[in-house]
Amino acid sequence: MFTSLYIHVPFCEKKCSYCSFYSVVEKNKIDSWLENLEIEARLYKHEPRIKIKTLYIGGGTPTVLKISHWRELLRIINENFDLYYLKEATAEANPNSLTQELINFFLKNKFTRVSLGVQSLNDYELKILGRIHDSKIALCAMELVKASGLFLSCDLIFAIPGQTLRTWAKSLKTVIKFADHVSTYQLTLEPDTPLGQELNNQDLNESGYKFYRYAQYYLPQKNFLQYEISNFAPEGKECRHNIAYWTQADVIALGPSAVSYVNGVRYKNPELLEKYFSPDLIEREELSPREREIEKIILALRTKWGLNRSELLPEAKKILDSLPQDLFIKSGNRIALSPRGMRLGNSIWCELIGL
Ligand code: SF4
Repeated sequence: MFTSLYIHVPFCEKKCSYCSFYSVVEKNKIDSWLENLEIEARLYKHEPRIKIKTLYIGGGTPTVLKISHWRELLRIINENFDLYYLKEATAEANPNSLTQELINFFLKNKFTRVSLGVQSLNDYELKILGRIHDSKIALCAMELVKASGLFLSCDLIFAIPGQTLRTWAKSLKTVIKFADHVSTYQLTLEPDTPLGQELNNQDLNESGYKFYRYAQYYLPQKNFLQYEISNFAPEGKECRHNIAYWTQADVIALGPSAVSYVNGVRYKNPELLEKYFSPDLIEREELSPREREIEKIILALRTKWGLNRSELLPEAKKILDSLPQDLFIKSGNRIALSPRGMRLGNSIWCELIGL
């Protein structure tokens, strides 16, 4: 059995003003988090051990961990899972805490990618987001990864208050000089965040449209093809770990707030630093065969590969047929979203979710 493994590192230097992910700033709790992580990982220890094909260390900010923590983390993973067949290993990083020492550690330990939270290369926008790095630090971090030979993926955010098409274009243009993969996300204002409260939870959807459209226009010209709603990469450099989510493959996720998907059942760990894996605290959601089918359609339509029309439920087929046909690309029996369809993806999911 092959699966993907995600580890949530719930620590950050400081909370960014828009962030609603589960992370804390108390780094003195890293040791007890690792102890709990080991107990959770042992629950998956079988003989033979589960074979991991993709590994993703995300957060939070994994690069706040010291090398000694990273060693401990890899010991825990190696003792409980089989990494022999590993095809891809990603470490998420923030520009201010990514060091040459960490890069050397990644190189020595089978990591293949670094996913860097650049977010913007405009200092004013970074300030609005409450990031602790500035554009110079982000550039240094990108150079560091590029020079190492590891694949570099950069996250960028659009629809930041005050952002213009010019600053967005500049961030994109600079990032692709270094990156092998770009993920673009629209800023969403969550009510429980300082930025959400400050801006009264405005809906930025409309203001985001032009930025997204520009990314769709610009990046493919530079050979960064849109292979998923938020992701662009040259052919062959797509993120395999994320493809596991979009194809409903099994993903074991460890750590507080982590969400696993195994055999059609979703398990969500609570947002707690300790004992978050106690069975009575984990939310369990078993999808019915029909829910799995609908989810499969929605996930497949997020990607450029789409799906075979014969895999569509008759009701889903009817809905897709009733929508403007320029939202789709059809080739042979396959159907996928066109760039316009990707822009209007949310409305299409709303139609399908109600099935
Ligand atoms: S670094 Fe990432 S996870 Fe941490 S607070 Fe900022 S956005 Fe949230």
